[in-house]
Amino acid sequence: METGVEPLVNDGFAGEPAKRALGYIQSQREKGKNVVGIYCGYAPMEVIRAAGAVPAVLCAFANKTIEVAETVLPANLCPLIKSSYGFIKTDTCPFYSISEVVIAETTCDGKKKMFELISHIKPTYVMDLPQLPDEKEALDNWTVMIKKLKGFLETTFDRKIDDRDVEQEIKETNIKNKLMNKVFDFAALTPTPLSWVELYDLTYLAQAATTKDMIVLLNDCVAKLEKRVAEGIYHGKKDSPRVLVTGCPVGGDATKVFKIIEEAGAVIVTLDSCTGMKPFASLIAENTPDPYAAVARRYLDLPCSCMTPNNRRLTELDKMIERFKPDVVIDVVLHACHSYNIESHRVKEYVTSKHHLPFLKIETDYSQSDTGQIRTRVEALLEILPQK
Ligand code: SF4
Ligand code: SF4
Repeated sequence: METGVEPLVNDGFAGEPAKRALGYIQSQREKGKNVVGIYCGYAPMEVIRAAGAVPAVLCAFANKTIEVAETVLPANLCPLIKSSYGFIKTDTCPFYSISEVVIAETTCDGKKKMFELISHIKPTYVMDLPQLPDEKEALDNWTVMIKKLKGFLETTFDRKIDDRDVEQEIKETNIKNKLMNKVFDFAALTPTPLSWVELYDLTYLAQAATTKDMIVLLNDCVAKLEKRVAEGIYHGKKDSPRVLVTGCPVGGDATKVFKIIEEAGAVIVTLDSCTGMKPFASLIAENTPDPYAAVARRYLDLPCSCMTPNNRRLTELDKMIERFKPDVVIDVVLHACHSYNIESHRVKEYVTSKHHLPFLKIETDYSQSDTGQIRTRVEALLEILPQK
């Protein structure tokens, strides 16, 4: 975004997205809220919030802790797991330090085994996530796990979770997600009035912040974006190629890929991952007889590659392509993330044959050693695009 444009997020917690989220969590802790560390998009936020707790995302994206992690973990493991573990091993993760308990899910093998290595440090509650989401037992089993989590939180924090509070949190999630989508609608405009940095910043903060706080902030964002559009302010150039980024969660040092894409002259109009828009894509059924089952349904529908088959990833891509009108799709896969890596083939076939869009898979980690190679591939991809 050009200089002189009012920042989108201006909430008093200035700084990098992680610092902003940490500042928010610390302020909530000072007000007496409990803090629950989470590792995944499947963590049922509504139950955590109904327990009066604030979630803290523990997934890490920094290269600096990988070396120490590799003294225990294999080198050919996903950098997200290594980085997260390295922070804990060196006792330098402020999000982990402030968390009183950790909620984890049985998603990929690397994460599962890493949880075993840290579970002695803090109470760590591992939820058995069904991975065949379309089987009829999946919903029942995941509902049971969510109700067991409720029991764990009640015992740990010595407070009852009322079903009405869960229902209220469902309604608040829906309000927040609708507002987040109002902001995403601006990203869908051509030209787009907001940058990937702003999108990423907002989605990072929204994972931690309560709906009440987010409503104020998001309404302010919408007003600022309306002003930008009215004044003809936009990000990039009017005819910049539009990029949809899909794949693994990306943050911190891995955002080198996003920077390279924009330095090559494109604009990222949508981030389809757990560090992007995915957690806000859908709503939860309200006023059902069992709010835990409603929460379970919504999370089971998250299109993560740990699910099989993961057909929803393709139907969600359909919707995103229709809405954001990208010129290319770039799939960012972290090294040794086998499920996203294998699924990339299917995504490529789908995007190129059904939507006739150029597709690029970038496999990377958190080091800077491959930036030249990534830049060359991104520039080559953008060169083949027809002139607008
Ligand atoms: S990509 Fe899958 S495993 Fe990773 S945070 Fe998202 S839902 Fe969880
Ligand atoms: S990026 Fe892949 S391997 Fe890494 S934690 Fe997520 S699902 Fe597991």
